Amino acid sequence: MVKERARILVVGGGYVGMYTALRLQRRLKRELERGEVEITVVTPDPYMTYQPFLPEAAAGAISPRHVVVPLRRVLDRCRIVIGEATAVDHAKRTATITTLATEEEGTGGQQLTYDELVLAPGSVSRTLPIPGLADHGIGFKTVEEAIGLRNHVIEQMDIASSTRDPAIRDAALTFVFVGGGFAGVEALGELEDMARYAARYYHNIRPEDMKWILVEASDRILPEVGEEMGRYTVTELRRRNIDVRLQTRLESCADRVAVLSDGARFPTRTVVWTAGVKPHPVLAATDLPRNDRGRLRCTAELSVEGATHAWAAGDAAAVPDVTAGEPGRECAPNAQHALRQAKVLADNIVHTLRDEPLRTYEHAYAGSVASLGLHKGVAHVYGRKLKGYPAWFMHRAYHLSRVPTFNRKARVLAEWTLAGLFKREIVSLGSLEHPRAEFELAAGGKPSQDPPHNPKGSS
Ligand SMILES: Cc1cc2nc3c(=O)[nH]c(=O)nc-3n(C[C@H](O)[C@H](O)[C@H](O)COP(=O)(O)OP(=O)(O)OC[C@H]3O[C@@H](n4cnc5c(N)ncnc54)[C@H](O)[C@@H]3O)c2cc1C
Repeated sequence: MVKERARILVVGGGYVGMYTALRLQRRLKRELERGEVEITVVTPDPYMTYQPFLPEAAAGAISPRHVVVPLRRVLDRCRIVIGEATAVDHAKRTATITTLATEEEGTGGQQLTYDELVLAPGSVSRTLPIPGLADHGIGFKTVEEAIGLRNHVIEQMDIASSTRDPAIRDAALTFVFVGGGFAGVEALGELEDMARYAARYYHNIRPEDMKWILVEASDRILPEVGEEMGRYTVTELRRRNIDVRLQTRLESCADRVAVLSDGARFPTRTVVWTAGVKPHPVLAATDLPRNDRGRLRCTAELSVEGATHAWAAGDAAAVPDVTAGEPGRECAPNAQHALRQAKVLADNIVHTLRDEPLRTYEHAYAGSVASLGLHKGVAHVYGRKLKGYPAWFMHRAYHLSRVPTFNRKARVLAEWTLAGLFKREIVSLGSLEHPRAEFELAAGGKPSQDPPHNPKGSS
């Protein structure tokens, strides 16, 4: 039983948003039935993306629909609003929301009032003012980007296979990834593996014809798996002929030439930017306190510092790491923390509504697993270090156990099993990005957009 009627607003439908709402709807089931509590989730997409599966989706090992979780089905006792929070005035307990409808009606944002706020908009790619990056860079945070990149890589192979111009061929077969964290290393590892496999179906492309380059500003990659496993990953990638450049930065990719700080220049059509994340910019449009890196200042109970009835977790929140034994240390922005924080956050909202004492968030980082392509991986979990097939197997087993809902687990497992029995998919469906192009041509009109990744920009 709660003290008084509560409207809970959850901003974001990712890890934190979905898991918080899921736990709230379970723990407040009776209150929801009696109408004492109302949970509204505002999020731009009707699904939660299981980001650790994006590299495998890019490689074609998991279909895009299975790396996302439909929010309306999972959160069936919550109100789902597809839209974006553009501002929050917590002093007035009001959030401004834009939706497709408000855009179409031209009425501006709509105001939502709440009693408890969960702010979990996650992070966005941290970019730098590098010439050409905004025009040519490709991000790797969403399922659309992962599938777009897969289509793009296969399309580059098609271009290279059909052109007679060696310069075009060389640029099409050069793939530059910037950032040696999880996202960059896994995406590169999976895509290189997929392209190497696909090359056997091209009469004039050999795996050695492709240049895969990983550019990392620091002196190590994959810090999440520790120094030794990071060094192993460098050796393993170099053994696969991947050009790993440490202590090197991308200085420009203007005119489709990647210029690196070590003086190297690579004409390329593919620059994938995975050089870190920063908190979502919507946080700046709130009256809640942020730290110097833009994350919301939080307590170990996951409330926002100095603000009652405002909660945050995940990539957007600076949560003290109470296990670090060092004051000022924050929890890293990763799924391991986001998932566990969401549970404590939901419990603390329930405790607040019931006037009970709050729980403290406490979790010592357990280590990480990373996939580097089919049957290849690296792991450092609870002090155990694994390489190659065992690490890859552990990666799959771990993420299968973590991906939300039994339905998704079954579908992903079925896909992996079928992929073991049949050959890998190497088809590109890039034309899905422009579904009206063919009809527009047939109807005598002009296609509204150039075909994607057209070799010389001509149609
Ligand atoms: C390719 C890749 C691989 C990764 N692999 C791993 C891994 O193996 N292990 C690991 O621990 N971590 C991994 N991570 C990191 C992990 O996915 C993130 O730390 C985690 O998703 C953070 O959860 P979150 O809820 O804070 O943000 P998200 O899960 O990103 O959710 C944020 C949500 O807020 C929504 N949103 C944004 N703006 C607004 C707004 N204005 N209004 C309303 N909603 C908004 C977004 O659309 C999204 O739904 C990976 C990340 C990537 C990109």
